[in-house]
Amino acid sequence: MPQESDHGQAIASHGSRIDAYVDRYAARATGMVASEVRALFAVASRPEVVSLAGGMPYVTALPLDVVGELVADLVARRGPVALQYGSGQGDPHLREQICDVMSLEGIEANSDDVVVTVGSQQALDLVTRIFIDPGDVILAEGPSYVGALGTFSAYQAKVVHISMDDEGIIPESLAQTIYALKTAGNRIKFLYTVPNFQNPAGVTLNVSRRAQILDICQRAGVLIVEDNPYGLLGFEGGSMRALRADCPDGVVYLGSFSKTLAPGFRVGWALAPHAIRDKLVLAMESAVLSHSVFSQLAVGQYLATQPWREQIKTFRELYCERRDAMLGALEAMMPAGCTWTRPAGGFFVWATLPEGLDSKALLPRAVAERVAFVPGTGFYADGSGSRHMRLSYCYPEPERIREGVRRLAGVIEQELRV
Ligand code: PMP
Repeated sequence: MPQESDHGQAIASHGSRIDAYVDRYAARATGMVASEVRALFAVASRPEVVSLAGGMPYVTALPLDVVGELVADLVARRGPVALQYGSGQGDPHLREQICDVMSLEGIEANSDDVVVTVGSQQALDLVTRIFIDPGDVILAEGPSYVGALGTFSAYQAKVVHISMDDEGIIPESLAQTIYALKTAGNRIKFLYTVPNFQNPAGVTLNVSRRAQILDICQRAGVLIVEDNPYGLLGFEGGSMRALRADCPDGVVYLGSFSKTLAPGFRVGWALAPHAIRDKLVLAMESAVLSHSVFSQLAVGQYLATQPWREQIKTFRELYCERRDAMLGALEAMMPAGCTWTRPAGGFFVWATLPEGLDSKALLPRAVAERVAFVPGTGFYADGSGSRHMRLSYCYPEPERIREGVRRLAGVIEQELRV
């Protein structure tokens, strides 16, 4: 029998099973719902479906034999250390190597301010955990990374989206929103931003806006959480200067080896002002005691012995070719009235459908035609975004991308005729 829970929700079911515990979860668990991206994985992974949905890095492009040798060597030489517990802050040598990586984006950091995390996803979780009480405001680009929105929702934050365009967050919109929220008595805890090759919109915050946004946040006393997993994957050479580089005290920078090496190691990091760093380490220890020393040493060994900059170049060239395949196919095949962003790096294109079409309603038909994408609504905390979709070009080979876009264009065309 369906029942009402304390939170006024009918009993939830998981697939065909009724969840008998629905009345007993903490209030925060009501915010823990499967993202649309997650629900899609099962469908999109069927071999006949061209998946433009997932954001999986193309790890096949790594020298897997070299990685294998490196891991075997690590166990042979340093097994007792690699297989032991480690410190909550992370391996000191790896933290120094992380500082070298960040220097490519103009950051001068002390390794003592780095906390190694289980991917940058855990860094997001820890930052949210130490700052957010239920109802606190987090500002985020609209659209925003679905995994961050899931974390924010789990900690019962109120997410307020800031408008963005092809050049990133619009500073005026940020300033106005901060003013309005403060006037209404809200507690704004931080601005969450993915300034480079944003997930999902593919856009990059331009240089002059970077200065403006730092200035607005500094004046308003709003911390910035700069999430930058794609920063080294620019197709036009060089990388943008990180926000953190110009404001060490006002920015928590999150980085990751998931896209420049491999997500399977689950090694990311946070670079934070001292006091925040201390809280992050305590939160980290209470979450997982210590991070995998094995993974950290393997990544450290990779950075010390392999031409990692060359590998990143290989990834950039590969993703650039795929981006070109997608943009070329969209240009050639999409029906009039569709628009899309032109990313200069990273994994994603953000497409907008003609007025009147709804990407979520379109998805079942697209899957029937063997192509998958992520509907735009998953990237907004308020459920808006129904005319948008995220198309990723990171995983399928160029020919498959063209085929996927051909199928998608056909589905949209049919829908427009109805
Ligand atoms: N931030 C953004 C913007 C992402 O796109 C992702 C992965 N898709 C993450 C954080 C988390 O990555 P990881 O935990 O693998 O470092």
